[in-house]
Amino acid sequence: MSTSSSQRTRTATPHRRLAESIWGAATPLVLAGTLAAVLAVGGCAGGSTPAVSSSVALRPAPGAGAPGSPAAAQRAGAAAGGSHAPFVASPAGGLGAGALEPGVAVSGTGDPAVAPGQVLHGPRGRRWIALTFDADMTHAMQGALRAGRVPGGWYDRALFDELRATQTPATIFLTGLWTAQYPDVVRRLSADPRFELDNHSVDHSAFATPCFGLPTVGSTAAKRQEIASARAAIRRASGHTPRYFRFPGGCATGADVRLVRSYGELPVLWDVVSGDAFQRDPDVIVRSVLDSVRPGSIMVAHCIGAPNTPATAAALHVLIPRLRGEGYRFVTLSRLLSR
Ligand SMILES: [Zn+2]
Repeated sequence: MSTSSSQRTRTATPHRRLAESIWGAATPLVLAGTLAAVLAVGGCAGGSTPAVSSSVALRPAPGAGAPGSPAAAQRAGAAAGGSHAPFVASPAGGLGAGALEPGVAVSGTGDPAVAPGQVLHGPRGRRWIALTFDADMTHAMQGALRAGRVPGGWYDRALFDELRATQTPATIFLTGLWTAQYPDVVRRLSADPRFELDNHSVDHSAFATPCFGLPTVGSTAAKRQEIASARAAIRRASGHTPRYFRFPGGCATGADVRLVRSYGELPVLWDVVSGDAFQRDPDVIVRSVLDSVRPGSIMVAHCIGAPNTPATAAALHVLIPRLRGEGYRFVTLSRLLSR
């Protein structure tokens, strides 16, 4: 590793400007967390410790705003690869998602930061990978769009062009607001068998706090609404019923997991963090993925494009042929997880 701590600190400046243009007064702590998470998961192939003070910076900050879930991603990634037996590989049968393939890893009670009962990755015995892309949209993002502050919209056309051009299956976690904003896009995605559409709540509010300053869902009734309304919107727009759910920010309690499961949807996290939030250098994303990908991995990224995730498509342009060259096959989540 040649990147020094001071070099990393300096790179935070453009991230901060980006964030402020979209999110209002984002706090340095969250921005540091975003950067630290990106670095922590992608920056140190040699195994050296990230020089930034990630133990502080990765802690979610109440009252601040950030899209996606880099720190939660880091926690989940750590849980998936940790040494304290955090998962149980037993099938979670009887769900709407159907019986699970043997070897699917589900979070257990070993890590208090990750609610138990969520899928972390698929079986390790075959070189399959599920690429997942979150279509985040908060009310703040919707407001920015309506005010004309997001010229390209929150739809990453280049990313979907890349997936189509390379015949790459992917799973898209849709928020209800994104689905309502881009119904034609959702319809086209649903007509393409390579893409699978799943549930990412209505407006990307956090089910548990603290969660990166995301607005919080206050009551169980409101949580039900977040799950059921998004499910209905996706079904209306696409004709497909979601099988999987991803908690905004990855933030949830065990009760939240059970609530989602009561709708027949299986909560899914990830074990590979792309680190694409506010990352403008595709090489950083490529390194992050290549450093952590394994057979059965679930990669988390976003399909909202610039300014929040401007380099995802460019990273895929490198990653897809590279991983295929290493013998990996891309599959949808249901292909990865179901029997
Ligand atoms: Zn999200």
